[in-house]
Formats: sequence, structure tokens, C-alpha cells
Amino acid sequence: MRIKELLSSREYGSEVTVKGWVRTRRGNKNITFVALNDGSIIHNIQVVIDMSRFDEDLIKLITTGSCIAVTGKLTESPGKEQHVEIHADSIKLYGTADPEVYPLQKKGHTLEFLREIAHLRPRTNTFGAVLRIRHAMSFAVHKYFNDHGFFYLHTPIITGSDAEGAGEMFRVTILDPKNPPLLEDGSVNFAEDFFGRETNLTVSGQLEGELGALALSSIYTFGPTFRAENSNTPRHLAEFWMIEPEMAFYEIEDNMNLAEDFLKYLIRYALENCSADLEFLSGMYDKELIDRLNFVVNNQFERITYTRAVDILQQSAEKFEFPVSWGVDLQTEHERYLVERHFKKPVIVTDYPKEIKAFYMKLNDDGKTVRGMDVLFPKIGEIIGGSQREEELEKLEGRIKALKLPEKELGWYLDTRKFGTAPHSGFGLGFERLLLFVTGMANIRDVIPFPRFPKNADF
Ligand code: ATP
Ligand code: MN
Repeated sequence: MRIKELLSSREYGSEVTVKGWVRTRRGNKNITFVALNDGSIIHNIQVVIDMSRFDEDLIKLITTGSCIAVTGKLTESPGKEQHVEIHADSIKLYGTADPEVYPLQKKGHTLEFLREIAHLRPRTNTFGAVLRIRHAMSFAVHKYFNDHGFFYLHTPIITGSDAEGAGEMFRVTILDPKNPPLLEDGSVNFAEDFFGRETNLTVSGQLEGELGALALSSIYTFGPTFRAENSNTPRHLAEFWMIEPEMAFYEIEDNMNLAEDFLKYLIRYALENCSADLEFLSGMYDKELIDRLNFVVNNQFERITYTRAVDILQQSAEKFEFPVSWGVDLQTEHERYLVERHFKKPVIVTDYPKEIKAFYMKLNDDGKTVRGMDVLFPKIGEIIGGSQREEELEKLEGRIKALKLPEKELGWYLDTRKFGTAPHSGFGLGFERLLLFVTGMANIRDVIPFPRFPKNADF
């Protein structure tokens, strides 16, 4: 049985078998207590071992980190910490963990140290909690969209389009780096590469997502995305997971409503289904975590334009590292000022200058701003970036020309505007940014099992 079920069982006297990893062992000549964990729940089950019934040499090997199976009687526990414990009748030792070398001894470890042993850190309370919450949030994403009539669309991970993140992409190639085939002008001849052209890992599934939305009405993607940006921050990964809904017939207001409802749903889901893990993380790292989650669920997000945001920032007495004026992109420090100091709640900023946003965002009638929207969260800054898309062919072609994007390569994308175009909108939620908020962890490298960032691709 999984420990989660056992801990809520009241079938005292029944014989059970549990399997898991030893967290601690203590006791004396007569009796030994083992705290056993199998990852099903943050709590351990206490195994009580009557030493007169076991070989002492076996029990000596049951140290922190070792793996055992215990069969015994489920018994009401006299201890305050737990209702039930197991009185062992037989023990099988699957694997020892030499205390001299096993790095996860009982003492607390820094998160930095645990990052270096990411292959073992799932066995800590902290990462057990984070990984269970990560699972619950993935499940909730699919449940939300399924319940709302969205279809899960699998967009490609290897992509030939470099329309969006030029320069920030990881190339995918099988050419020999030492001796690549060359064209007459000395440049690499990608026609001889695997796909017969340059290919990269995707930075976003959006463009293909739009193709799906303009047929199935409402779709979402949920997959890995890759950015070769050299951002050594606690909020950026080189490989992260993104959730991108895309909806036909949605204007920017519908898009904002969906983003707000979706985020609140996910956070409420965590509060209702991950309470033991949230309480643990809150106690360890962030006393205000649960209050903050409840606050977001229970309050309307503020909605302001970029122009108003710039006004507020300029009128504030705050000294920013990057000065603000109309036309500059908002930095995390600005975003957090708006959220944490000014409005004291999540903020959706819309109508950004077209120069600082992507080519596909719908141009407003002023000709200067686009219908982009960023959702800003406390402690995170941008958690969602989205927009209403430009559905008018001429305007979209105008933007592509102005930005000197490869128009020919975008032919398939432009076809959606040529044939049966429709107003549509979508957004991207960084899954790890969501997890940062929900878990209260401070570094994005601690909410994904095996983080990829500049100069690190271990494990
Ligand atoms: P930022 O300005 O924070 O770097 P961005 O504007 O480049 O983000 P978008 O291209 O709008 O990000 O991507 C959509 C969402 O994906 C963001 O709102 C964020 O939640 C997430 N995201 C973007 N880049 C990263 C990254 N390097 N690591 C983790 N999540 C990311
Ligand atoms: Mn963005």
C-alpha cells in the first residue's frame, strides 16, 4: 500500500506491506523506530521494530536513504505526530545507502547544494512537495481546458520557422561541426542537413497553435519550449514548459477574462488538493504563501494600459535601475512595483507600443499600440504574455515588411488570414513561473526536476 492511504486508514490490526526509502532511524537496544517515505505524501509512516525479533546486522543496514519493504500490523499510534504506525513482522532490504557517502543525511541542506545533486533531491521533503504540486498543476491544466471545450494540440518541437525569436534559438543539426558542407560563398549549406533546411528547437507553439484555433475554435498547447537567451536570473530557464491557449472569436477582453479565470482555477486547485505540501513549503520557506494564494483567488486583477502604467511609474518616488519613459519595455522591477507597491494585487497591462511587441499582435486604431497583454504577479513579474492577433492580411503583411521578417517562409501562416480569417487571441503561461508562485520557491531552477540554464545541462 502507498503510505498516503495507510496514514488515513483506521483498519487497526490489519496486515500491510509498504515499500519506501528510510528518512531516519532512531531507537535503542530494544526498539527501533524508522520513518519511511514513499513519495506518495509529504508525511512518513513510522515503522516500529522490536529488536528481539530481528537480526541486529540487518537493522544496522537500515540507514537514511536505504530502501526497504516492511510487512506488519497497522497499529494505532500512541505518538502525537501520527494516528497509525506499523509494527514490523518482516523486513526486506532492497538497497543500502552507506552513511559515509550518501549525501542526504538528516541535516538541512541549502537549495544550492541540492541543485548539484538534482538526481537525489526528489527524495527530500522540499522536492517531493514541489514535484507533487507540479504534477497536480499539470493535471489541473488539462482538466480546465478539457472542461471548457478546448482541444490539446501537439505543436512541433523541431521547427523550421525562425520568425519569432531570431538569435535566441537552439539549432538542430546533424552536420559535422568540424567539416560542414559549404556553399560557394563559404556559408553552411543546410540543404544537406537532415531536414534539408535550417531547423531549431521551438521558442513557442503559438504560430502553429493559431492554425489549430482557426479550425477547432479553441485549442491549447502544453509542451517544452527552448530559449538560448543568456539570462542568468531566478525566473529564466533555457528549457521550460509553456501552456498556450489560442481561441478563435476571442477579442482582447475575452482573452484577459480567460487568463484571469484560468490562473485562479489553478491556484484554487492547488489550495484544495495540495494542502499538506503547501503547508510544508510555507513553514519552511515562506510564511505568507497560503495567504498570498488565497488573496489572488479572491480578488479581481487590476487592468491598466501600458500608457497608464508608465504614468504611474514616472510619478512614483521610486528610484528604478532602468528609467521609464513611454516606449521602453517594462523591466521586472517596474512590473513588481506596479503589483506589489502600487496596486497590491495582480495587474494586467495592455496596449503596448508596437515597437516592443511581436509582429503578430493586433494593431490598435491609434496606429501606435498593439493589443498585447501581460499578466503581472507578485514576486514574479510577468507570468503570462498574450495578445489579440492581427487577423487582417494587409496589416499583418505591413508589420512583416516593416520588421524585415522572411515573408516567404511565413506563407503558411499568412494563409490563415487569406482564407476565412477570424478575430482570435491567445496567451502563453510559463508553467515554471506559475509553479514559482504556487510553491513560494524563489528560484525557477527549483521547480523543474532537471533545470537547463547557461553552462548547465547535467543529468
Ligand atoms: P520575460 O520578459 O520575462 O523574459 P518574455 O516576454 O520573453 O518573458 P514570452 O515570450 O511572452 O516571454 O513567453 C510567455 C511566457 O513564458 C512568459 O510570460 C513567461 O511566463 C514564460 N517564460 C518566458 N521566458 C521564459 C524563460 N526563459 N524561462 C521560463 N519561463 C519563461
Ligand atoms: Mn512576454
